[in-house]
Amino acid sequence: MEPLLDTLGRTLETLRVSITDRCNFRCVYCMPKEVFGRDYAFLDRRDLLSFEEITRVVGVFAALGVRTVRLTGGEPLVRRDVEQLVEQLAAIPDLELALTTNGVLLPQKAQALADAGLSRVTVSLDSVDDAQFRALNDVDFPVDRVLEGIDAAAAAGLPVKVNAVIKRGVNDDGVIALAERFRGTGHVLRFIEYMDVGHTNGWRLDDVVPAEEIVRRIGAAWPLEPVAAGPDSTSSRWRYKDGAGEIGVIASVTQPFCGGCSRARLSAEGSLYTCLFAVRGHDLRAPLRAGATDEELAETLRGIWTRRTDRYSELRTAETASLPKVEMSYIGG
Ligand code: SAM
Ligand code: SF4
Ligand code: SF4
Repeated sequence: MEPLLDTLGRTLETLRVSITDRCNFRCVYCMPKEVFGRDYAFLDRRDLLSFEEITRVVGVFAALGVRTVRLTGGEPLVRRDVEQLVEQLAAIPDLELALTTNGVLLPQKAQALADAGLSRVTVSLDSVDDAQFRALNDVDFPVDRVLEGIDAAAAAGLPVKVNAVIKRGVNDDGVIALAERFRGTGHVLRFIEYMDVGHTNGWRLDDVVPAEEIVRRIGAAWPLEPVAAGPDSTSSRWRYKDGAGEIGVIASVTQPFCGGCSRARLSAEGSLYTCLFAVRGHDLRAPLRAGATDEELAETLRGIWTRRTDRYSELRTAETASLPKVEMSYIGG
């Protein structure tokens, strides 16, 4: 099969699927309470793609060359019977199936997800300090319960990565404690620069802790050496010289990587976004519900990808940060 290329020669390899816009956390940098409060209008259940519709769209993407599908949200584990969706998707051949979660529901769900065919899990955890973590998730959720979720995933045989978003003056003083907690566990800890996604989190460049600073600080505590990364890896990888494993840093703001961006994103209501910072998506639900064939859907997707020009992070300025953009909790990161 000819690889599908966009206008900048980028292939389509990964699809992130948001399966709900709801969440049991109100992380201050993602779903601030002042915006996502009692009156916030979340998507109606009928507007969400059904498991059958998601499976069908993913099947068409897989036929076009997508090799990795990542379920996300909002919080994907709050969608009822998510393990059934995993089972349906796992039946699609040659597809790696990952999930990004805040970990709250992993103690109950990890085994069922592994049994259903999930390949691996990423748990978002921004601090191991209980008071700091409770303030970050803004629903007073204790950090120990997320750590239990990580253990439950590992016990179910799922490879685990841990992602931490670092915001200056909020949790940058917890970087060393995070590194210490995951050194030697086999779980790769990855630090993500705080991004100007959406338009509700009040992002400022000063809030970003550059990845290079994080590597320097951890390296001063435990010497690090670089690990060669794959050709389209978004993270740069570092190994502890004492053999205690590795960390990664994702420098989406200070060292943008649009040139290798092979990801598409499907919202919970079936809109396709070709960039995390897009203003508008392409509605796939309407043709799906109007009875389009797989070939017609594939043709639509080919058209969208081959016209793709996105490279927001490479063009970012202080002004672009205030443009209207889709929210992270809607598109799933
Ligand atoms: N609820 C799940 C979770 O937290 O893992 C999945 C959805 S969440 C939107 C996906 C990822 O986006 C999380 O790792 C979160 O930390 C990250 N994220 C949210 N807002 C962000 C921001 N402004 N900058 C960088 N990463 C962000
Ligand atoms: Fe929820 Fe994840 Fe956003 Fe936190 S980062 S509010 S857990 S969707
Ligand atoms: Fe990809 Fe858009 Fe991020 Fe660039 S800004 S890496 S095109 S999602």
